[in-house]
Amino acid sequence: MKDQKNGGTVIGGIIGDIVGSVYEFDNYRAKDFDLFGDYKGKHCFATDDSIMTLSVCKALLEAGPGYDELRGTAVRCMREVGRPYPHCGYGGRFYDWMYSDVPQPPYHSFGNGAAMRVSPVAYAADSLEQAEALAEIVTGVTHDHPEGLKGGRVTAGLVWLAMHGRDKMDLCAYAERNYDLGFTIEEIRPSYRFNETCQETVPQAIVAFLESSDFEDAIRMAISVGGDSDTLACITGSIAGAYYGVPEEFRKKACSFLDDRLLHIYQEFSQAY
Ligand SMILES: [Mg+2]
Repeated sequence: MKDQKNGGTVIGGIIGDIVGSVYEFDNYRAKDFDLFGDYKGKHCFATDDSIMTLSVCKALLEAGPGYDELRGTAVRCMREVGRPYPHCGYGGRFYDWMYSDVPQPPYHSFGNGAAMRVSPVAYAADSLEQAEALAEIVTGVTHDHPEGLKGGRVTAGLVWLAMHGRDKMDLCAYAERNYDLGFTIEEIRPSYRFNETCQETVPQAIVAFLESSDFEDAIRMAISVGGDSDTLACITGSIAGAYYGVPEEFRKKACSFLDDRLLHIYQEFSQAY
């Protein structure tokens, strides 16, 4: 056990998303890149991963005592917060769900969107069990396939354990009850390909965190895997931010990529939790 709750923050995942935004379709399989820097003429930006993470923040803030209304606020906030950003990288089926005239039922997804947006529930939860339960609620509004629910639940559980002082052995044991982590980043780096499923993103993101030496190294490790870089780094960053804490200069830099509307949600959530 580490000594105490370390005051991590949901900005960890948002940093991973922004840093990874330029590498999603142009992978960079090494760790020596310029953090938040341009790549091949592309500028970093806050993609769907950041926007949906902040939607979940807003849903929690508005869910009422005991989070009784969370399912309803999750549907409403994802649709309301997300709609002004049609070109930020949504998957096709999520796009249709978000822009439909009336809210649609979940569509049995096991996409990695389940895991990239879920970290705020860990900050709201008083126990591991509550973090998992809240994760299932916000995940289930769209990603109600068992692998989607698992991706959300395990990511939230790891964030909760990390922010409550558990060490990497504990986090690894928890993750291994759900995923096979019998590989190293170095082993998979040459052959890992773009994959938008939880099954082929969440374990890789977890191992990137487990192998890291600090928050920055975790983000670099996640990008170096290749694949769906913004989402993989968002998931790794969510866990790493809770575990190591986030350097203040990274937090400030990430906030400079959020517009006033998104920044307001982040600030409100940070004050509440
Ligand atoms: Mg994205």
